[in-house]
Amino acid sequence: MHELALTEKMFKIILDEAKAHQAKQVMKVTIAVGELSGIVERSVEAYFRLLAKDTIAEQATLEFNRIKARLFCIQCQKEFTKDSRDFTCPDCGNLARLTDTGQQCLVESIEVDNE
Ligand SMILES: [Zn+2]
Repeated sequence: MHELALTEKMFKIILDEAKAHQAKQVMKVTIAVGELSGIVERSVEAYFRLLAKDTIAEQATLEFNRIKARLFCIQCQKEFTKDSRDFTCPDCGNLARLTDTGQQCLVESIEVDNE
C-alpha cells in the first residue's frame, strides 16, 4: 500500500501547521480516513511514530475519524451517504457515482501546545 508516502505527506502538513502556530508540541492529530480509501490505520500509525521520533510531534496522539463514502446522483443533483454496496439513488433509483468523500485520507485537525 501507499501508506508511507501518504503518512510522509500528512506529517509534513502537520509540522508546517504546527510551526505556523509557533507550537512547542503537537498534542493530537485527527486523520480522516475514507472507508473506501483502502488505508490501513495501523500502518499510518506505525509510520507516523517513526517520522515523529525526535520531533515536536513525538508525543502526539493519533486519532482516526472514519468517513463514510458519499454518492452523488446526477439526476437528482444531490449527495447521499452510502451504507451498503448499493450504489443506486434512494430517490430515483438511478446509479449514482462516488464522490471523493470516503475515498480520501487527510489531516482533519491538529491540536498544539504553545506553552
Ligand atoms: Zn436520484
